[in-house]
Amino acid sequence: MTPEKIRRASIVILALLVCALAAAAVPAAAGPGQGGRTTVVLVVLDGCPARSVDALPPEAYIRQLAAEGCFRPVRTVFPSSTAAGHAALLTGRWPDENGVTGKEFMREDGTLGAFNSSRLIEAPTLIERAAMAGSRTAVISGKNGVRSLLGEGVDLAASPGQVPQWVLEKVGPPPAESAQYDDFCAWYEGLDRWVIDVASAFVKDAGPGALVVANLAGPDKVGHRFGPVPAPETTHCLVSAGKALEALAAVLEGVAGDDWAMVVTADHGMTLVTRAILPGEILEAAGAGDCVFSLDGGVMCVWPTADRLDAVMTALRNAEGVAEVIGPGDAARVRVHATHRRSAPVIAIASAGYMFIESAAFMDYTKGSHGTLLDSDVVVPLIVCGPRAARADIATARYTVDIAGMLARLLGIEK
Ligand SMILES: [Zn+2]
Repeated sequence: MTPEKIRRASIVILALLVCALAAAAVPAAAGPGQGGRTTVVLVVLDGCPARSVDALPPEAYIRQLAAEGCFRPVRTVFPSSTAAGHAALLTGRWPDENGVTGKEFMREDGTLGAFNSSRLIEAPTLIERAAMAGSRTAVISGKNGVRSLLGEGVDLAASPGQVPQWVLEKVGPPPAESAQYDDFCAWYEGLDRWVIDVASAFVKDAGPGALVVANLAGPDKVGHRFGPVPAPETTHCLVSAGKALEALAAVLEGVAGDDWAMVVTADHGMTLVTRAILPGEILEAAGAGDCVFSLDGGVMCVWPTADRLDAVMTALRNAEGVAEVIGPGDAARVRVHATHRRSAPVIAIASAGYMFIESAAFMDYTKGSHGTLLDSDVVVPLIVCGPRAARADIATARYTVDIAGMLARLLGIEK
């Protein structure tokens, strides 16, 4: 070997040694007690407003959990929708800090892209931090988009569109997609049960020390179709999910004894809607029919060309059912954390009872929507149960962005 090759080889060996030492040090640095051995399950009731919890029947497990102590309403982000809601929950950062600004964003090539990859999140997630500290991690979701946004690099990622062999062997497949419209509500209740069954199987397999994120799509999908609680269908869906969560709590007790916690919250709420706002017609009348736009229930994001900006803003401000229109330089942008370069230059927000929708005909089977700043869209439940619940210090949480820090405390990795 030449001296240069020896020098390079020495650097490589030294680097490997440092990496090995760092890896060996992770479990010891993982927090108090036994060092990151707490099992924590985060359950996201997709599209469940806080007010729904109190309106459930007294025997519903989710209502009982809330009544037994650790429950408080917290505020989620704007827009109050799935990708932004989940990214805020898992990063502890607002959309303008984590880069997940809504349902879609404009890519460099001028087309719209979905938030469907962990690479689009511009802040560390609690899932990554838990894995670094030695916890086993899982993201199990009724929605493929949530799995693809949060599930890269975890020990188990599962959703109806990606079912690992291990899940097929331990739990079986999710309900068949072809049967979805035979009985819409029962199908989603079955899907939520499958998600929780997979979570239980993972908890058993992982043993003490795991972080599981479980997204239940049922409350959202049934809520969109039939409206939020007290709609009987959505109420039934949450009662059904509660039964499955009760069984999961029993599994946690069996596996983790007194060292576990279950956190139940939501990415956003749901509001009863009866009226449609038709963006295509509004933009056409403003001479901006070819503008790129994205609909997210109570929110419409528009990327107008510079020459149509004023016309688009004026048309939206004058449209029936539009509560607020935020333009490129408006002060409101700071208030709603929409200052990221991915946030649309024009953001329109619907009034109570209205939603943005492609066609009025869709309202025949749409009774629920979300996305706005209304309390029914942004105030969501936060429930913590299990033997470690006190460590969560739930009284300090005001926003869903406070939940990542709370989960870190529960896992013993807050430093
Ligand atoms: Zn959602």
